[in-house]
Amino acid sequence: MITIDGSQGEGGGQILRTSLSLSAITGIPVTINNIRAKRPKPGLQRQHLVAVQAAARVCGGQVEGAELGSRALVFHPQQPLAGNWHFDIGSAGSCTLVLQTILPIMLHAPGPSTVTITGGTHNGMAPPVEFLSMSLFPILHRVGISAGIELQRHGFYPAGGGSIRATIQPGCGTVPLLLLERGKATNRHADVLVANLPAHVAYREAQELKHALHWSHDEIDENEVTADGPGNAIITRLRYANVTTVVSAFGELRKSAERVAQEAIKDVRRLLKSDIPVCEHLADQLLLPLALGVGGQFRTLKPSEHTTTNGAIIAKFLGDVVSYEQQDGDNWIITVRGR
Ligand code: ATP
Repeated sequence: MITIDGSQGEGGGQILRTSLSLSAITGIPVTINNIRAKRPKPGLQRQHLVAVQAAARVCGGQVEGAELGSRALVFHPQQPLAGNWHFDIGSAGSCTLVLQTILPIMLHAPGPSTVTITGGTHNGMAPPVEFLSMSLFPILHRVGISAGIELQRHGFYPAGGGSIRATIQPGCGTVPLLLLERGKATNRHADVLVANLPAHVAYREAQELKHALHWSHDEIDENEVTADGPGNAIITRLRYANVTTVVSAFGELRKSAERVAQEAIKDVRRLLKSDIPVCEHLADQLLLPLALGVGGQFRTLKPSEHTTTNGAIIAKFLGDVVSYEQQDGDNWIITVRGR
């Protein structure tokens, strides 16, 4: 039994997800205490509870403490199973973060799996579907992991009701990752998404992006999408020869369209100014797949607390496989040793 302190480092949901994935894969039971202790509403929220239930289902495991608000649980895994799974978060909790928990487990299943998850698809503090389809999954393909994702319906906070479908082949890849340079810029694009909001919201955001970034009309699309409630997101894609970076910003009640656009602009400028291939979010999300496969090395910004905390949880199960080396300033190399 491994015991994890959920209040360490960043103290959020990532500790729970990585612990569940690794417990199911290694077969080592895990106790997690102080779940999400550093969040304003600690304990299991709907999204985290569904992640726990989903992890148990896809490995035939048992859980004690799987209740809303629970701050501690004990997870007893069995073997990863292949199947056609469906999980409903029942709120706008993030579908992609539930997928993040079970995808590594399904890579260890004896056959292919499909999974449909309903809930939020575009919410702050979580990767939007486009981040997975355009940035993370193409890199996973490169190392030999075969997974695809499809957005079936948009889901925004607070109504939720969105849906994603993923297909996953077993196998953790056979090719080490080497991603030190992003290569030549080939394409850039912003999608302004709105659902059930006045058209001027998308127009104002698109105008703000055009003026601040000096992008052309063709590089910015305004898209009205179907969803259960109101929603707004800006999804920006910066495509380079070796990687695609996805930057997102999300609308909220009482946040002006201009402010949403300014958040996207600030992040896009920061990435354009640096020459790193791996953004901070991609960095924390690459650690586990690389550690389960044959490893690799990538250049990124100063590791976020998310990344170092994720590295510390991986170390509890697999040993000290992640190392960080500062080149200069905001320029770091992360090396992950494979299994
Ligand atoms: P909590 O409420 O406990 O913070 P959480 O389950 O929402 O929980 P975090 O621990 O904050 O999760 O982890 C969020 C994950 O989402 C991280 O992997 C992070 O990189 C990713 N993420 C957050 N924002 C973005 C974004 N804009 N683009 C891509 N990935 C993102």
